[in-house]
Amino acid sequence: MQHDRVTKSDEEWHQLLTAEQFKVTRKKGTERAFSGAYHDFHGTGTYMCVACGEPLFSSKAKFDSGTGWPSFWEVVDKANVAEKSDRAFGMRRTEVLCARCDSHLGHVFNDGPAPTGLRYCINSAALKFELEAHSPPASAPKEN
Ligand code: FE
Repeated sequence: MQHDRVTKSDEEWHQLLTAEQFKVTRKKGTERAFSGAYHDFHGTGTYMCVACGEPLFSSKAKFDSGTGWPSFWEVVDKANVAEKSDRAFGMRRTEVLCARCDSHLGHVFNDGPAPTGLRYCINSAALKFELEAHSPPASAPKEN
């Protein structure tokens, strides 16, 4: 899937995001466990990138990992995220980013549930939930 890439300066992102959202998505921060809006949230709908609106995860693939971060076993579309090897803090992890705007989302691990065995451990601050019933029509233009 071809993406209309979103590129902005730190200055511009600063104006669009809260301090916490900016720290997580643009500076690869991690919100405190159990502090976010979605770790214990069970609405039916889609989790979008908070920075650019790209659809990332469905509530159908959400599960309670007990970690204090919203966790998913599958991405809405593999093309919507990018994965990058992350050696920070002496750990070997796989970072997950929004493919459209390069926002840091979290990490993916291999200890998730069936059917994929994956655990996408994502910061609430990187997500914006949209209720299924309130989803915009497919023809609605994307925000830039
Ligand atoms: Fe994005």
